[in-house]
Amino acid sequence: MNIAVFCEINPEMLTEKGVNAYPETLGVCLKNLFEEAGNSVTLVKLDENGAEDFNEDILNTADVVVWWSHAYNHKVQNELVDKIIERVQKGMGLICLHSAHKSKVFMRITGASGSLKWREDGAQERLWCVDVNHPINDGLGEYVDIINEEMYGEPFDIPTPDELIYLGWFKGGEVLRAGFVVKRGRGKVFYLNCGHETYPVYRNEGVRKILVNASKYLKPNRPILDKLVCPHITEFSIK
Ligand code: ZN
Repeated sequence: MNIAVFCEINPEMLTEKGVNAYPETLGVCLKNLFEEAGNSVTLVKLDENGAEDFNEDILNTADVVVWWSHAYNHKVQNELVDKIIERVQKGMGLICLHSAHKSKVFMRITGASGSLKWREDGAQERLWCVDVNHPINDGLGEYVDIINEEMYGEPFDIPTPDELIYLGWFKGGEVLRAGFVVKRGRGKVFYLNCGHETYPVYRNEGVRKILVNASKYLKPNRPILDKLVCPHITEFSIK
Protein backbone atom coordinates (compact mmCIF):
# COMPACT_ATOMS: atom_id res chain seq x y z
CA MET A 1 0.00 0.00 0.00
CA ASN A 2 0.99 3.66 -0.27
CA ILE A 3 1.85 5.33 3.02
CA ALA A 4 2.59 9.04 3.51
CA VAL A 5 4.58 9.82 6.67
CA PHE A 6 4.29 13.44 7.83
CA CYS A 7 6.99 13.99 10.45
CA GLU A 8 8.43 17.03 12.16
CA ILE A 9 12.07 18.05 12.48
CA ASN A 10 12.24 20.19 15.64
CA PRO A 11 15.05 21.53 17.89
CA GLU A 12 14.64 18.67 20.43
CA MET A 13 15.50 16.20 17.67
CA LEU A 14 18.74 18.07 16.95
CA THR A 15 20.02 17.85 20.55
CA GLU A 16 22.55 15.15 21.49
CA LYS A 17 19.77 13.01 23.00
CA GLY A 18 17.61 13.41 19.92
CA VAL A 19 20.42 12.55 17.50
CA ASN A 20 21.47 9.55 19.63
CA ALA A 21 17.91 8.23 19.58
CA TYR A 22 17.53 8.70 15.80
CA PRO A 23 20.79 9.43 13.94
CA GLU A 24 18.88 9.02 10.69
CA THR A 25 16.04 11.29 12.03
CA LEU A 26 12.77 10.06 13.49
CA GLY A 27 10.96 10.56 10.18
CA VAL A 28 13.40 8.33 8.29
CA CYS A 29 13.10 5.70 11.05
CA LEU A 30 9.32 5.63 10.54
CA LYS A 31 9.74 5.60 6.74
CA ASN A 32 12.12 2.61 6.96
CA LEU A 33 9.81 0.79 9.35
CA PHE A 34 6.89 0.86 6.92
CA GLU A 35 9.10 0.20 3.88
CA GLU A 36 10.54 -2.92 5.52
CA ALA A 37 6.93 -4.14 5.79
CA GLY A 38 6.64 -3.93 1.97
CA ASN A 39 4.94 -0.56 1.57
CA SER A 40 5.72 2.34 -0.74
CA VAL A 41 6.42 5.26 1.61
CA THR A 42 6.73 9.01 1.02
CA LEU A 43 8.17 11.18 3.80
CA VAL A 44 6.92 14.77 4.13
CA LYS A 45 8.87 17.06 6.46
CA LEU A 46 7.06 19.34 8.91
CA ASP A 47 8.95 22.32 10.37
CA GLU A 48 8.43 25.98 11.28
CA ASN A 49 7.09 26.49 7.73
CA GLY A 50 4.51 23.72 8.03
CA ALA A 51 4.58 21.11 5.27
CA GLU A 52 6.57 22.86 2.53
CA ASP A 53 7.26 19.71 0.50
CA PHE A 54 3.66 18.63 0.40
CA ASN A 55 2.04 18.14 -2.95
CA GLU A 56 -1.46 16.87 -3.51
CA ASP A 57 -0.41 13.74 -5.40
CA ILE A 58 1.11 12.40 -2.18
CA LEU A 59 -2.24 12.58 -0.41
CA ASN A 60 -4.35 11.56 -3.39
CA THR A 61 -2.51 8.24 -3.69
CA ALA A 62 -2.08 7.50 0.04
CA ASP A 63 -3.95 4.57 1.60
CA VAL A 64 -2.71 5.55 5.05
CA VAL A 65 -1.19 8.76 6.46
CA VAL A 66 1.12 8.55 9.48
CA TRP A 67 1.35 11.81 11.45
CA TRP A 68 4.01 12.83 14.03
CA SER A 69 4.12 16.49 15.10
CA HIS A 70 4.81 18.46 18.26
CA ALA A 71 6.57 21.86 18.34
CA TYR A 72 5.11 23.00 15.03
CA ASN A 73 1.56 21.66 15.43
CA HIS A 74 0.22 25.20 15.01
CA LYS A 75 2.31 25.87 11.87
CA VAL A 76 0.63 23.21 9.76
CA GLN A 77 -1.40 24.72 6.95
CA ASN A 78 -5.17 24.58 7.53
CA GLU A 79 -5.68 23.68 3.87
CA LEU A 80 -3.62 20.49 4.38
CA VAL A 81 -5.58 19.63 7.52
CA ASP A 82 -8.87 20.04 5.58
CA LYS A 83 -7.62 17.75 2.83
CA ILE A 84 -6.47 15.00 5.22
CA ILE A 85 -9.75 15.05 7.16
CA GLU A 86 -11.83 14.90 3.98
CA ARG A 87 -9.75 12.00 2.67
CA VAL A 88 -10.22 10.06 5.95
CA GLN A 89 -13.96 10.59 5.62
CA LYS A 90 -13.67 9.16 2.10
CA GLY A 91 -11.89 6.04 3.40
CA MET A 92 -8.18 6.70 3.99
CA GLY A 93 -6.52 5.49 7.21
CA LEU A 94 -4.76 7.87 9.63
CA ILE A 95 -2.22 6.96 12.33
CA CYS A 96 -1.53 9.75 14.85
CA LEU A 97 1.56 9.29 17.00
CA HIS A 98 2.65 10.66 20.38
CA SER A 99 2.37 14.49 20.58
CA ALA A 100 0.05 14.48 17.56
CA HIS A 101 -2.68 14.43 20.25
CA LYS A 102 -2.44 18.26 20.05
CA SER A 103 -2.17 18.45 16.25
CA LYS A 104 -4.86 20.21 14.26
CA VAL A 105 -5.51 16.97 12.38
CA PHE A 106 -6.13 14.92 15.56
CA MET A 107 -8.21 17.58 17.33
CA ARG A 108 -10.37 18.20 14.25
CA ILE A 109 -10.95 14.54 13.38
CA THR A 110 -11.79 13.57 16.98
CA GLY A 111 -13.68 16.76 17.86
CA ALA A 112 -11.79 16.93 21.18
CA SER A 113 -8.95 19.01 22.65
CA GLY A 114 -6.55 16.08 23.15
CA SER A 115 -5.60 17.58 26.51
CA LEU A 116 -3.79 15.20 28.89
CA LYS A 117 -1.41 14.99 31.86
CA TRP A 118 2.32 14.73 31.09
CA ARG A 119 5.74 14.42 32.70
CA GLU A 120 9.00 14.01 30.83
CA ASP A 121 10.85 11.67 33.18
CA GLY A 122 11.82 8.93 30.76
CA ALA A 123 10.42 6.20 33.02
CA GLN A 124 8.95 2.86 31.95
CA GLU A 125 5.63 2.50 30.14
CA ARG A 126 3.84 -0.83 29.86
CA LEU A 127 1.29 -1.01 27.06
CA TRP A 128 -1.30 -3.50 28.28
CA CYS A 129 -3.47 -4.96 25.52
CA VAL A 130 -7.12 -4.87 26.58
CA ASP A 131 -8.40 -6.51 23.35
CA VAL A 132 -6.09 -9.45 22.71
CA ASN A 133 -7.96 -10.61 19.61
CA HIS A 134 -7.72 -7.24 17.88
CA PRO A 135 -5.80 -7.39 14.54
CA ILE A 136 -3.52 -4.54 15.71
CA ASN A 137 -2.21 -6.90 18.43
CA ASP A 138 -1.52 -9.80 16.00
CA GLY A 139 1.68 -11.61 16.94
CA LEU A 140 1.95 -9.82 20.28
CA GLY A 141 1.21 -10.95 23.81
CA GLU A 142 -0.41 -9.41 26.87
CA TYR A 143 1.78 -6.31 26.92
CA VAL A 144 4.67 -4.40 25.33
CA ASP A 145 7.27 -2.83 27.62
CA ILE A 146 8.90 0.47 26.71
CA ILE A 147 11.99 1.22 28.80
CA ASN A 148 11.97 5.03 28.50
CA GLU A 149 8.96 7.16 27.63
CA GLU A 150 7.44 10.52 28.41
CA MET A 151 4.44 10.02 30.71
CA TYR A 152 1.07 10.86 29.17
CA GLY A 153 -1.77 10.28 31.63
CA GLU A 154 -5.51 10.56 32.17
CA PRO A 155 -7.61 12.59 32.07
CA PHE A 156 -7.17 12.44 28.28
CA ASP A 157 -9.78 14.54 26.45
CA ILE A 158 -10.84 12.27 23.58
CA PRO A 159 -14.19 10.87 22.45
CA THR A 160 -14.99 7.41 23.80
CA PRO A 161 -12.95 5.25 21.41
CA ASP A 162 -14.76 2.91 19.01
CA GLU A 163 -12.07 0.32 19.76
CA LEU A 164 -9.78 0.54 22.81
CA ILE A 165 -6.78 -1.74 22.29
CA TYR A 166 -4.03 -0.58 24.66
CA LEU A 167 -4.01 0.86 28.14
CA GLY A 168 -0.70 2.51 29.04
CA TRP A 169 0.59 2.09 32.61
CA PHE A 170 3.42 4.32 33.83
CA LYS A 171 5.89 3.77 36.62
CA GLY A 172 4.59 6.91 38.37
CA GLY A 173 1.19 5.23 38.74
CA GLU A 174 -0.67 7.01 35.94
CA VAL A 175 -2.69 5.25 33.22
CA LEU A 176 -3.76 6.33 29.72
CA ARG A 177 -6.04 5.14 26.94
CA ALA A 178 -2.86 4.75 24.92
CA GLY A 179 -3.85 2.91 21.74
CA PHE A 180 -7.31 3.20 20.22
CA VAL A 181 -9.31 3.45 17.00
CA VAL A 182 -12.03 5.95 16.14
CA LYS A 183 -14.05 5.60 12.94
CA ARG A 184 -14.82 8.70 10.90
CA GLY A 185 -16.92 8.38 7.73
CA ARG A 186 -15.45 5.47 5.73
CA GLY A 187 -12.02 5.84 7.34
CA LYS A 188 -10.38 4.75 10.55
CA VAL A 189 -7.99 6.66 12.83
CA PHE A 190 -5.49 4.96 15.18
CA TYR A 191 -3.72 6.87 17.95
CA LEU A 192 -0.70 5.52 19.84
CA ASN A 193 0.86 7.57 22.63
CA CYS A 194 4.45 6.35 22.65
CA GLY A 195 7.32 7.90 20.67
CA HIS A 196 8.85 10.94 22.40
CA GLU A 197 11.59 12.27 20.10
CA THR A 198 14.54 11.78 22.48
CA TYR A 199 13.85 8.09 23.28
CA PRO A 200 14.34 5.44 20.55
CA VAL A 201 10.85 4.01 21.02
CA TYR A 202 10.27 3.29 17.33
CA ARG A 203 13.16 0.78 17.45
CA ASN A 204 11.18 -1.32 19.99
CA GLU A 205 10.12 -4.50 18.17
CA GLY A 206 6.71 -4.58 19.88
CA VAL A 207 5.94 -0.98 18.95
CA ARG A 208 7.09 -1.60 15.35
CA LYS A 209 4.75 -4.60 15.13
CA ILE A 210 1.84 -2.52 16.46
CA LEU A 211 2.44 0.17 13.83
CA VAL A 212 2.70 -2.26 10.91
CA ASN A 213 -0.42 -4.11 12.10
CA ALA A 214 -2.23 -0.78 12.44
CA SER A 215 -1.37 0.24 8.87
CA LYS A 216 -2.82 -3.06 7.59
CA TYR A 217 -5.95 -2.64 9.73
CA LEU A 218 -6.51 0.93 8.53
CA LYS A 219 -5.89 0.18 4.85
CA PRO A 220 -9.13 0.94 2.99
CA ASN A 221 -10.97 -2.27 2.06
CA ARG A 222 -13.03 -0.43 -0.56
CA PRO A 223 -11.95 2.21 -3.11
CA ILE A 224 -11.52 5.65 -1.53
CA LEU A 225 -14.44 7.86 -2.60
CA ASP A 226 -13.91 10.62 -5.17
CA LYS A 227 -16.54 12.87 -3.61
CA LEU A 228 -18.53 13.21 -0.42
CA VAL A 229 -22.09 13.55 -1.67
CA CYS A 230 -25.08 15.16 0.01
CA PRO A 231 -28.48 14.46 -1.63
CA HIS A 232 -29.65 18.04 -1.09
CA ILE A 233 -26.74 19.99 -2.52
CA THR A 234 -25.15 17.23 -4.69
CA GLU A 235 -21.64 17.93 -3.48
CA PHE A 236 -20.60 18.47 0.11
CA SER A 237 -17.42 20.21 1.15
CA ILE A 238 -16.33 20.33 4.80
CA LYS A 239 -15.04 23.90 4.42
ZN1 ZN B 1 7.05 14.10 23.72
